[in-house]
Amino acid sequence: FIIPEFQQFCKHIEDIYEKCKKVTSGKQASYIPQLARVSPNYWGVSICTIDGQRHSIGDTTVPFTLQSCSKPLTYAIALNELGEETVHQYVGQEPSGRMFNELVLDYNNKPHNPMVNAGAIIVISLLKTMVRPELTLAEKFDYTLQYFKRLGGGEYLGFNNAVFLSEREAADRNYALGFYMREHKCFPEGTNLKECMDYYFQVCSMETNCEATSVMAATLANGGICPVSGEKVLKSDSVRDVLSLMHSCGMYDYSGQFAFKVGLPAKSGVSGCVILVVPNVLGMCIWSPPLDSLGNSVRGVTFCQELVEAFNFHKYDNL
Ligand code: GLU
Repeated sequence: FIIPEFQQFCKHIEDIYEKCKKVTSGKQASYIPQLARVSPNYWGVSICTIDGQRHSIGDTTVPFTLQSCSKPLTYAIALNELGEETVHQYVGQEPSGRMFNELVLDYNNKPHNPMVNAGAIIVISLLKTMVRPELTLAEKFDYTLQYFKRLGGGEYLGFNNAVFLSEREAADRNYALGFYMREHKCFPEGTNLKECMDYYFQVCSMETNCEATSVMAATLANGGICPVSGEKVLKSDSVRDVLSLMHSCGMYDYSGQFAFKVGLPAKSGVSGCVILVVPNVLGMCIWSPPLDSLGNSVRGVTFCQELVEAFNFHKYDNL
């Protein structure tokens, strides 16, 4: 086993879980009612090692929407299907140093990276127009859902239509980004902006839980082979690129500090979820809805920091 004393390891994780439970600051996202209404008390942590050992604590089967945690997944599909060179003709690799939804492009007039909204919308447009372009939007939705599901070993993945409809209603900024990028010719030829925005809101509104998401994280930790199903879902090169940008850009405008303090690739979303990857060891999903001012789950970030205090998981711990 990659973690020989797994029981003991889980005991430590439970201690950290209890410690973080005492943290009650932060506030749920409120830009749509469906997120504002979620109980701030939900608190779940799931672990899946690269050899398939599992442990879950707390509210790990309660569903939440993926939101920005879908960004590394759609980026992974794009890399896997189109290759790094093609994808990065349209989107950069640089942290933006700005809020995730800011109306800004880099000095080449490309979105900074696939982890901010502008970049994720471009990645979505690549999936729509360049990966199996013959598929209708409905078929492309299914294709993406099935791909995500394979990353999660076939475990729970659904769709929250109320969130989708609200996202689309409350999307002035995302539409502004879309038009701004269209003005700057950021999209691949043949892009239908309206379809592309709908597709973006749909993947944000896909619903999962901690248990299933920890398997997705473990598939990334395992170089693209799902530890639960044994299926090779992603090429290892694609996974390397995804983890690199999660490391530098995954935690909104806290990414630099997170890379410094925690030293692990991660991605958070406004629903309060955090995907954390310890490469070649395990994947985790950490979920608690109250967010800090930058949009990261307060308990999620605290948990990650406590984790690397307790274990030498930081990339530069073993020097
Ligand atoms: N649906 C959200 C948006 O595009 C996702 C935000 C997030 O999780 O960061 O604004």
